[in-house]
Amino acid sequence: MEALRGIRGLAVDLDGTLYVGDEVLPGVMAALSALRAARMPMRFLTNTTSKPRSSIVAKLDAMGLGIEAESIFTAPRVAAKVLRGRGVKHAYFLLKDAVLSDMEGIESTADGAQAVVVGDLGDEFSYDRLNCAFRLLLEGADFYALAENRMYRHGDGMRLDVGAFVRALEYASRREATLLGKPARAFFETAISGLKLNACEVASVGDDLEGDVGGGQGAGLRGVLVRTGKFREEDLSASEIRPDVAIDSFADLPGALGI
Ligand SMILES: [Mg+2]
Repeated sequence: MEALRGIRGLAVDLDGTLYVGDEVLPGVMAALSALRAARMPMRFLTNTTSKPRSSIVAKLDAMGLGIEAESIFTAPRVAAKVLRGRGVKHAYFLLKDAVLSDMEGIESTADGAQAVVVGDLGDEFSYDRLNCAFRLLLEGADFYALAENRMYRHGDGMRLDVGAFVRALEYASRREATLLGKPARAFFETAISGLKLNACEVASVGDDLEGDVGGGQGAGLRGVLVRTGKFREEDLSASEIRPDVAIDSFADLPGALGI
């Protein structure tokens, strides 16, 4: 396809793009094999902030996707790198304990916290923890969000996601959080930095129009939408984001790249 001419690397979303639940989507294995045979370098990007990278790696292994841990970029790990780069050594995290293992080099503490970092605490969100974050923000701590998703689908129905808690803290503190997960530009830049390619030579591939397509395009990548996972045709027609290419599924990617 003309719109994908010159693509030499890929930034690929995980959930909804390669698999849904624990099921690998049809044709994904063959597509990954074809891309690997063509020596197309790939990085895998996920906004998941409820699980440490180690458990994502274990899940991918169990599904037999053959994705190396080093090529996976989760919002918490990328955030840790960005925060370290900004000199943050102590931070107050609204994050599950298991995910703190991805925050290498940054001590989790309320005392002397230079930053507040909001991720997914699920049913561990409490008034005390939110209020602790709020007070630190009033005292001038830097304010970061790992994601801004409004809601997610759970087995028992829809649930409040990270964005709702970020907005609550923004409202009360009159501060604005800096987003570190997709669609933030820094997330894509960090994830593809090891490819040694220009951003315009990389395509972001995913089922989330805002996070994967719009976010990728905002960082200079080309945006490829897959019509799987959370994709809904009405979201595409209602949005101002225009994918460079839309394909039915990841299985069609090698063909779209002329492989
Ligand atoms: Mg997705």
